[in-house]
Amino acid sequence: MRLRNIPRAREVIESSKWCIQNPEGLKGHWAEEFGNDRPIFLEIGTGKGRFILELSALHPEINYIGIEKFSSVLLRGVERQDEQELPNLRFIRGEAELITEYFAQDEISGIYLNFSDPWPKKRNAKRRLPSRQFLYRYHQILKDDGTIEFKTDNRDLFDFAVDEVPASVFRILALTYDLHHDPEMNAGNIMTEYEEKFSAKGNLINKYILVKDADKLKQVRGVK
Ligand code: SAM
Repeated sequence: MRLRNIPRAREVIESSKWCIQNPEGLKGHWAEEFGNDRPIFLEIGTGKGRFILELSALHPEINYIGIEKFSSVLLRGVERQDEQELPNLRFIRGEAELITEYFAQDEISGIYLNFSDPWPKKRNAKRRLPSRQFLYRYHQILKDDGTIEFKTDNRDLFDFAVDEVPASVFRILALTYDLHHDPEMNAGNIMTEYEEKFSAKGNLINKYILVKDADKLKQVRGVK
């Protein structure tokens, strides 16, 4: 994401009631923030928030939280939410690396990773959001029946992501190398900003859905 510094971004984000200023303080208590115990889904690296705003409007029965590292990027999403006031949507200006500080074990029902930064240099592999290090963090906050949905047009990043799955407690439930021509996986697909841009250029969109593997869970828990 090309980053243009927008001076008012920090102020807007810090004063928006939809943007959680101290997410660590809500760890284990997000149901109280939403005022109900409906499932909570995250989008990590939410960018300008188009995907999560659309999803939240479509599914009032689910709670959503968009996490984004940069104020200047998140600004647009927060401004839209200031207008729309979707009761089931919050934002965090924060780091994916800290999600286990923000959420307790089993607090999250699903995670979306959309067009995550590729970090092409090998030495930065552990920074990639579908890396085994991140899959371990996701495992820690996701319920046992939770899902991870990842899409990207970057085939190298996608191949890396697929190769990381065996080193985690997850297994691949579904996978496609051409989402927009896969009727089953594309049903109900919501386009992100990046998805629209790159598919318009003719790039194919890759997607997988992960679930926790019951046998691997037994192994990590030492259950026979
Ligand atoms: N998901 C959006 C989309 O599909 O249009 C934006 C994709 S953009 C390539 C990736 C976004 O993830 C950027 O806005 C970046 O700032 C954010 N991001 C990257 N690493 C992050 C991290 N560790 N924690 C939080 N956000 C991150």
